[in-house]
Amino acid sequence: MQSLNKGKLFIIGIGPGDTDFMIKRASDAIMESEIIIGNDFYLDLIKPLIGDKEVIYSSMGKEVERARRCIELAETKKVAMISGGDPGIYGMAGIVIEIIKRDNSGVEYEVIPGVTAATAAASKTGSPLSGDYATVSLSDLLTPIEIIEKRLDLAFQMGVPVVLYNPKSNGRPHNLAIALEKALKYKNKDTPVAVVKNSHRSGEEIRYYKLSELFEDDEFVDMRSVVIIGGEESEFIGDDENIRGIVTPRGYDRKYVY
Ligand code: SAH
Repeated sequence: MQSLNKGKLFIIGIGPGDTDFMIKRASDAIMESEIIIGNDFYLDLIKPLIGDKEVIYSSMGKEVERARRCIELAETKKVAMISGGDPGIYGMAGIVIEIIKRDNSGVEYEVIPGVTAATAAASKTGSPLSGDYATVSLSDLLTPIEIIEKRLDLAFQMGVPVVLYNPKSNGRPHNLAIALEKALKYKNKDTPVAVVKNSHRSGEEIRYYKLSELFEDDEFVDMRSVVIIGGEESEFIGDDENIRGIVTPRGYDRKYVY
C-alpha cells in the first residue's frame, strides 16, 4: 500500500516546552515541513522554528477533524502535526494512526518521540520514578470516570509511584480529589508527592506535599501540572524545612552494601 505521492505526515512530540528539550529529529522535521498544524499554545513554544511557513491553528476538542485534515494534506505536502510531550502518550499519534488504519490510507507517516511530562517532571524532582511506575490520566473526556476509578484502584495497589496526567481542569475540578481519596486507601498518608507545574517552560513551579496534605488542599494543581505520587519506598530528599526532591530506591540496597 505504498503511496506514489511525495507528501509525508510527521507526528511530532516537541517535549515539555523549552526547545532545548526537543530532539533534533523533531526540529529537522519541522524545518522540512511545508505546513504546520497544532494548537496555539504548542505552536507558540516553537515559533522561531516555524518562520513564515503555512500554519493551521486547531483548537482543543477537535482532534478527529484535525487528524483527518492532516492526513488529506499529507497526501501531497509535507505536514508537521505538533503534540506536546510525546505524541504517543495522551497525544495525537493514536487518533491519526487509527484514522489511517480505518480509512486504509497509504499516506507516509513518521512518529517522532518527545520527552513526556512524567519524565520531564521527574527530572526536576530528583529520581522519583527510578523503577516501575504507572501513569493515569484523570481526563474523563474520552474515558468514562468509572474506568478511570478502576484503574486508579489497581495502580495504587501496585505500590509503585503513580503519575497523574490531566489532574484538573475547570470542567472536572473534582477528579483529583477522587484520585487522592483512593490513594489514601492504599498508601501511607505521609507518602511523598510532587506537583510540577509547567515543567521546562515559563511558569515552572514545583511544590512538595505529603499525600494527606495534598488531599486537604489541592488548590495549587491545575491542567498544566502533573502530580507524582510516590510508591512504597519513595522518600523525600532533604528535611521538612527544605525538601529538595524525591528518590525511589531501585533496590541496589537489597543487593549491595553502600
Ligand atoms: N503528550 C503529552 C501529554 C498530553 S496530556 C506528554 O507526553 O507530556 C496533557 C497533560 O500533560 C497536562 O494536563 C499535564 O498534566 C501534562 N503536561 C504536559 N506538559 C506538561 C509540562 N510541561 N509540565 C507539567 N505537566 C505537563
